[in-house]
Amino acid sequence: MSRTLAILKPDCVKRNLAGEVIARIQKANFKIVGLKMVRLTKETAGEFYAVHKERPFYAGLVEFMTSGPCVPIVLEKEDAFEEFRKLIGATDPKEAAAGTIRRDFAESKGENIVHGSDSPENAEREIGFFFSERELVELK
Ligand code: UDP
Ligand code: MG
Repeated sequence: MSRTLAILKPDCVKRNLAGEVIARIQKANFKIVGLKMVRLTKETAGEFYAVHKERPFYAGLVEFMTSGPCVPIVLEKEDAFEEFRKLIGATDPKEAAAGTIRRDFAESKGENIVHGSDSPENAEREIGFFFSERELVELK
């Protein structure tokens, strides 16, 4: 089993799609081991996406991620990060495969409904960014 971090982004929460997206995630056999609702600040969103600091979309991304509450979720599955990236699809919903969450729900490359970690190392770091170990449940 491995873990990955998902975030239901502010567009997902605002458009009342959180339930539907979580249902998709559960139907794909991911187990939820941690979940909360948070409102990111400019500082916390900026730190989370620090790797993109020099990119032209960074300011807009921070703006968007602080525009409303979001829902970080820790997911468990075999090959969790790869499997979750497959389930959400490409960053730009126009390029995302049919049946993926971004293809079916996202409105733009920026407002794309959901985040998914892109490596085991980043999953570990991103989970620690939002959750302490005692906020994660033991499923067995
Ligand atoms: N993003 C954007 N414009 C771009 C690329 C990315 O607004 O041209 C935003 C988008 O919300 C994306 C996030 O920045 O999900 C992080 O970008 P990344 O390339 O890491 O995409 P992801 O890993 O989320 O697919
Ligand atoms: Mg990324």
